[in-house]
Amino acid sequence: MNTRRSFLQKLSAAAITFPLISFEDCTNADQAGSKTYDGPVLRVAIMGLGGYGTRVADAMVDCKKAKLVGVISGTPSKVKAWQAKYNIPDKNCYNYENFDAISKNPDIDAVYIITPNSLHHPQALRVAKAGKHVICEKPMALNAKEGQEMVDACKKANVKLLVGYRMHFEPKTLEVVRMRMDGELGKILFFQGLSGFRIGDPTQWRLNKQLAGGGSMMDIGIYSINGARYMVGEEPVWVTAQESKTDPVKFKEGVDETIQFQLGFPSGAVASCLSTYSMNGLDKFYLNGVNGFAEMQPSTGYGPIKGRTHKGELTQPHATHQTVQMEEFAAIILEGRKPVIPVDGEEGLRDLRIIDAIYEACKTGKKIELR
Ligand code: NDP
Repeated sequence: MNTRRSFLQKLSAAAITFPLISFEDCTNADQAGSKTYDGPVLRVAIMGLGGYGTRVADAMVDCKKAKLVGVISGTPSKVKAWQAKYNIPDKNCYNYENFDAISKNPDIDAVYIITPNSLHHPQALRVAKAGKHVICEKPMALNAKEGQEMVDACKKANVKLLVGYRMHFEPKTLEVVRMRMDGELGKILFFQGLSGFRIGDPTQWRLNKQLAGGGSMMDIGIYSINGARYMVGEEPVWVTAQESKTDPVKFKEGVDETIQFQLGFPSGAVASCLSTYSMNGLDKFYLNGVNGFAEMQPSTGYGPIKGRTHKGELTQPHATHQTVQMEEFAAIILEGRKPVIPVDGEEGLRDLRIIDAIYEACKTGKKIELR
């Protein structure tokens, strides 16, 4: 991952920007006021006006570097409501059939894809071809092959590809990463990640293999995979995994209900994680090193995140994750800022390779080596 020196360089850059966006701007729209900022603004269209799209749109109201200017949706009534709420002109509204024409719209810089998982890949390829930056929700795609194609397409089109890893900008998370990189935890030995909730409505797309690409692992388990990587600070070299299913009617073939998985890292550190759609309130990270520990619960929810280390409570203040993320994404795209923990297509791809290996391990019962 990053060297300590590059981490410190990035952290000092973040230290300059975080107070700016975390307090004055993000949590207090009145103070943020566009009057105080006249720099470049990332003009974003959201594709998929569902639950999370709505959350992102509301959070962007408090951004100064990113602005919601367009929508892509299959539901005309939502488009009308969003136009009224966010003052979006007709010329910036598209549906899934005609959005390639966005290439001719000079008033949109980036498209944020917030649709069901299996649509990310084809939609990202179209957005890239239209010459717009791609922001894509997690999981970036259904598998590493698709993910690689997205990375390649964005490279070819000379547009950025960013993944909605909002935790990569969360202050308590960044403090634990700083402590680990500064050696305050000593040699890292173990990570535990518990990610899960009890899923409701059996007819929703998250339980449809074609749209979700899997089950809990694609949706919530990915937080433990991603967290293991940024907490341990290494890329895993092997994976083992075991699947269990208590309700094969609700969780059909190819839709995982619960998977336990283990990751092995080059240093010898190991991770033990749980991904589930059938247990409530599982949202916990634990990192153990020779000289200390960090514990976060909740660790990846919308916050406030809570945590402590061997030195005491983590006290970094909460700011709306999606507001901070969109400010940071704008800085990455417009100013070339390098985040402490990457959020680019390669980062999304690393998680997808591990997901592929976890599913293979579940199927074969074998330990899967990661190249
Ligand atoms: P929702 O079901 O709430 O919304 C998805 C939207 O996608 C729909 O409202 C619809 O919008 C559009 N859509 C297009 N085609 C379809 C289809 N065939 N079936 C269903 N919807 C369709 O899902 P979420 O917003 O919860 O999740 C969307 C994505 O965001 C997922 O990839 C998920 O993993 C990710 N996510 C990320 C979170 C995070 O914290 N980073 C949190 C929650 C979700 P329209 O009517 O406008 O076309």
